[in-house]
Amino acid sequence: MKAAVELVRKGGTMLAEPCSKCGGVRVSYHGRVYCTGHEDLSAVVAAESVPVETVMAGLRDVLISKLNDAASQLAQEKDAVKQEQLATLLAKYYDLLERMREKRQSP
Ligand SMILES: [Zn+2]
Repeated sequence: MKAAVELVRKGGTMLAEPCSKCGGVRVSYHGRVYCTGHEDLSAVVAAESVPVETVMAGLRDVLISKLNDAASQLAQEKDAVKQEQLATLLAKYYDLLERMREKRQSP
């Protein structure tokens, strides 16, 4: 039950219908449904306590790699519509990176 409360506190939703296996309380969280009765939720809860810096560093790497991918795709793309899509994508990745940088610099 403690895990259920923790998941709800982190944005999960308690479901009205109980678990069909054990009758336990089910919580919908990050697109998955967890049973607080027979499933071990400690890993799910613990996974969320990763430091923000670690997540941000990972996200930064992903964004840079995606920027690189999109840029090389754009270089080869001849279709104007697809070029525009790629350019929009690039702008979004870049915007995210910039926002992360601003956040780090602010006190
Ligand atoms: Zn269950």
